[in-house]
Amino acid sequence: MENKEHLAVMRPVEIERFLERNLLKIQKPARYAGGEINQVVKDWGQVDTRVALIFPDLYDLGMSNLGLAILYDLLNQRADTLAERAFAPFSDMEAAMRTARVPLYSLETKHPLTDFDIVGFSLPYETLYTNTLNLLDLGGIPLFTAERDEADPLIIAGGHAAFNPEPMHAFIDAFVIGEGEEVIGELVEAHQAWKRSGERRADLLAALSQIWGVYVPSLYEASYEENGTFAAIEKLAPEAPLPIMKRIVAKLPPPTTRLVVPYIDTVHNRVPIEIMRGCTRGCRFCHAGMITRPVRERPVAEVVAAIEQAMASTGYEEIGLLSLSSSDYTNILELVKAVGERFAGRHLTVSLPSLRIESFSVDLMDALKDSRRSGFTLAPEAATERMREIINKPVSTEQLLETTRAIYAHGWHNIKLYFMIGHPSETLEDVRAIADLCKAVLAEGRRLIGRRAQVTAGVSTFVPKPHTPFQWVPCDTMEQIKAKQDLLKNSLRGPGLKLNWNPPEDTMLEAWLSRGDRRMAEVVYQAWKRGAKFDAWKEHFRFDLWQQAFEAVGLEPAFYTHRERPIDETFPWEHISTSVRKKFLTEDYLWSLQGKTRVDCRERCFACGILPTFADLRRQNPGDVWECPEVKSRRIPVEEILAVSA
Ligand code: SF4
Repeated sequence: MENKEHLAVMRPVEIERFLERNLLKIQKPARYAGGEINQVVKDWGQVDTRVALIFPDLYDLGMSNLGLAILYDLLNQRADTLAERAFAPFSDMEAAMRTARVPLYSLETKHPLTDFDIVGFSLPYETLYTNTLNLLDLGGIPLFTAERDEADPLIIAGGHAAFNPEPMHAFIDAFVIGEGEEVIGELVEAHQAWKRSGERRADLLAALSQIWGVYVPSLYEASYEENGTFAAIEKLAPEAPLPIMKRIVAKLPPPTTRLVVPYIDTVHNRVPIEIMRGCTRGCRFCHAGMITRPVRERPVAEVVAAIEQAMASTGYEEIGLLSLSSSDYTNILELVKAVGERFAGRHLTVSLPSLRIESFSVDLMDALKDSRRSGFTLAPEAATERMREIINKPVSTEQLLETTRAIYAHGWHNIKLYFMIGHPSETLEDVRAIADLCKAVLAEGRRLIGRRAQVTAGVSTFVPKPHTPFQWVPCDTMEQIKAKQDLLKNSLRGPGLKLNWNPPEDTMLEAWLSRGDRRMAEVVYQAWKRGAKFDAWKEHFRFDLWQQAFEAVGLEPAFYTHRERPIDETFPWEHISTSVRKKFLTEDYLWSLQGKTRVDCRERCFACGILPTFADLRRQNPGDVWECPEVKSRRIPVEEILAVSA
């Protein structure tokens, strides 16, 4: 492994022949065959740039990834570019490919990865890192950016995990920080200019670093203090930007409606339509809520038109209206009504995930006429009012109970409640309260609908994330997590109650990688070399391989997870700017320790940093395209923002 020689140089026709001979011996052959409805096949001779888009997990998951679908559509709309897809083969297919020395190939035309100009990885979460290395290896591409030359594809990556790119800095040539819709075209154009110029690969990387939202890690060097904490990042090239500001689109472009329709079941067999991006609620644990600001909404008419087009082009009967907090979409009632009227009698199921804990959410679901009544999900995240104030999700227990009463009364039998253990300052009493609250909800259900009432508690473990107000806090140790889970297993049992939880080992891996620095890249590499892959899959995850990797590299895992960071510590991800200022995050963290909450920032702007950074974009997009206050003057002082919105 680890070099180009372990794989044969293959042409698409040879890969097709391999598939003909082997596919029927492999589980779920449709994962590897391509040829789905709406796939785009272009003539390779007619385009300047060929892009492979990779979701580094199984096809079944990757095909439900909205980011990948958007980029596939946008790139293929360009006459000068083609985009094709590839996913991680499952172990049976990978073994067959390695035995026959077949490299990772694209589904559309069966070209090996090395034939592409650009290979882009989607990294929505950290547990895909070893798969990314595995796919580079299976594609015959040198793993390390330093080992690639002009003949190798450019390796890019983006997604929420890229907001702390450092654990993958050694493997990815350029990261896209933030939203990809506009920057992907600029990357393609920069690559085309470089190809025409005949310059060195280093010149391409230097040019990419000048694009807003692109981070080229090889242009920087990190240093560390004697105690092992991060010291600073220095530029190796004078023109490299510091910090690297995230990319946003000022206005959401119309939704992608021409989606590739798989022949097999995927995790979501539906059309995803994003109705809103960003969230103004300010939950302190929420990575997405901090990194996707500002809130931008799509108009109702645009969403309804997109549903119409998507139904016609895909044949799906389910639509997911997606956002981080769907009931916060300003015109949600109008949207639900419009969808109900327009698609009456057309067997359309509309799902509205991420609803707030209030009776209005029940009215919304009712208006959608969700005939399945399979389960109604709420996410209180913590069971006591004290804890909900600490995490800034202030809902009273009475309000929660009232909402659950409404849910049972409107015909749902099973209420799914999502909690997290491990929030800052959590005690065993706070954990016990999860069981008590679930029992109280079940008792309400029993009173209203008898023994049909059920409660399913999903209890995950909190992982502190970079760029959030909780980036300073220690993660629970394995022992603490086990003690809390044991308490729940013992107390949350009985007819009508179900408990789901994650193994503590999964939490450790996510926690190591989430706040990792550049030194973690060697740990990722050593774990992969020992056989780690599919780390997000319980049946494949090998905790022992990661422990061995830490040992081989000489790093202490607890340093990344259980250490309480001093308030003035410099973090290894600070050169990546979400535009939410550290001052705001620090204040919010200190407020959390006092149980102080913030209201929805649509009610009062807290000057988190978005407006001063993106004042021009806001000015160019007045009105309710954004949920942040309008910017009047060219340079808006923070005090003025507060005054405008007070
Ligand atoms: S600038 Fe104000 S309104 Fe906009 S996201 Fe930040 S706090 Fe919220």
